[in-house]
Amino acid sequence: MTTLADAEMWRHFHRHCHYDGAFRSFNEAEFVVNVHGGHGPSCLQYLSASAYICGSGDVADHD
Ligand SMILES: [Zn+2]
Repeated sequence: MTTLADAEMWRHFHRHCHYDGAFRSFNEAEFVVNVHGGHGPSCLQYLSASAYICGSGDVADHD
C-alpha cells in the first residue's frame, strides 16, 4: 500500500529527471513512471523506473 508519506518522499527523491533513480519497491517505480511519463528519452527517472518494473517480473505477462 502506498501512503501519502511514501508519495511525498518518492516525489522528493525522484524530482530530478537527469538523475538515475534507485527503487526499493515496485510501487515506488510505478509512482515514478506516472510522474515522469511523457518527459521523453532524456528522462533518466522514467527510464530507470521502467527498467525496474520490467526487470521485477511481477507483472510480466509475456515471454
Ligand atoms: Zn522526468
